[in-house]
Amino acid sequence: MTGIFDDLKDYGHEQVSFFHDEETGLKAIIGIHSTVLGPALGGCRMWKYADDQEALRDVLRLSRGMTYKAAVAGLNLGGGKAVVVADSRTDKNEALLKSFGRAVDAVGGRYITAEDVGMTVSDIDTIRTVTRHAVGGSNEGGSGDPSDMTALGVFQGIKAALKVSGQGEKLEGVKIAIQGVGNVGYHLCSYLSAAGAKLIITDIYPNQVKKVEQEFGAEVVAPDQIYSVDCDIFAPCALGAILNSRTIPQLKCSIVAGSANNQLEKDEDGFTLFSKGITYAPDYAINSGGLINVAAELDGYNKEKVLNKVTQIYTTIENILEHSKKEHVPPHQAADALAEKRLKEARKQTPNTSFGFRSQFMTDTKIMSELTAASLN
Ligand code: NAD
Repeated sequence: MTGIFDDLKDYGHEQVSFFHDEETGLKAIIGIHSTVLGPALGGCRMWKYADDQEALRDVLRLSRGMTYKAAVAGLNLGGGKAVVVADSRTDKNEALLKSFGRAVDAVGGRYITAEDVGMTVSDIDTIRTVTRHAVGGSNEGGSGDPSDMTALGVFQGIKAALKVSGQGEKLEGVKIAIQGVGNVGYHLCSYLSAAGAKLIITDIYPNQVKKVEQEFGAEVVAPDQIYSVDCDIFAPCALGAILNSRTIPQLKCSIVAGSANNQLEKDEDGFTLFSKGITYAPDYAINSGGLINVAAELDGYNKEKVLNKVTQIYTTIENILEHSKKEHVPPHQAADALAEKRLKEARKQTPNTSFGFRSQFMTDTKIMSELTAASLN
């Protein structure tokens, strides 16, 4: 493949490994963006990509995102991701999953896999039979489905965004439009409803809509109406790239805060939101609850510690938004600055250790003290 090292340089990757298994038909790519803060943890996406270039681009983009997510969440983890080129509905079987598991094992612990699109908790259980470098399963101390913890983190982030934008942090009577009421969206509705918020929901899956409508008394709108509903907060919990030049002009909210990955179609969309005075809680910072949950397995899963760390997403979002206000930079840039600062300091403290883990010097206390507005200056 021509230009591969140019791609690695542009995205800043350490390692990209391609795997092919004649016997099972496995075609997989593992992208390790950075191990500066620790082993690279990130889910595996099973997707029928149009071509190899599309699969490579996706793994490069997603694994880099994981570096930033882990850094901002204060975890001693690097960023990685894997893609398996296959249709999860028709091609997935035990042999393929085990073959992928052996590929993960071959990377020797520099990459730890988990669920992503097209993969389930039980798939991780299968993968775990051939490698210990997999988290998010249900066996052997596995933490299972992370979506509740992701939703709890988003709930905390919403409260922080309300506070920083001067609206107090009470959710009583606050109108929230939720796009996508699947795993995360459903749990988020549950937290918001208990706090007294008024829910407006949409989903393309009618059964899911009915369930949330009945359980939480939510108002339902059609998928294409969700951007323009009269609301205080828009919570994207379905797809990426939904903040763009077509949707932003329709928004009536003052805050965007939801779980979806890669919400901004382009970097400039973050600037547009900022110039319109819409507070945007950066996606990878507010949706890190799931990562925090699976990462906890590496130290022996402890629910109380996880809840404590997920609750700290409030402080992370508060600090990012305060910094954005103070320095007049859009929140997505403030989040990037926080992540890059942490990575820079780690490199400075243990230079010339390419491909080794440099995380050990970072204690939790130090990490949390870094998550202050001052550290961004
Ligand atoms: P999910 O598949 O369970 O739910 C997504 C829901 O969105 C589905 O019900 C789907 O029908 C709906 N949807 C799809 N297209 C839609 C559209 N055009 N309009 C309205 N609804 C639409 O996924 P999830 O696990 O709840 O994740 C939701 C988002 O959060 C994804 O972007 C995911 O990448 C991100 N995320 C999830 C986690 C997690 O722990 N599950 C962690 C971090 C980020």
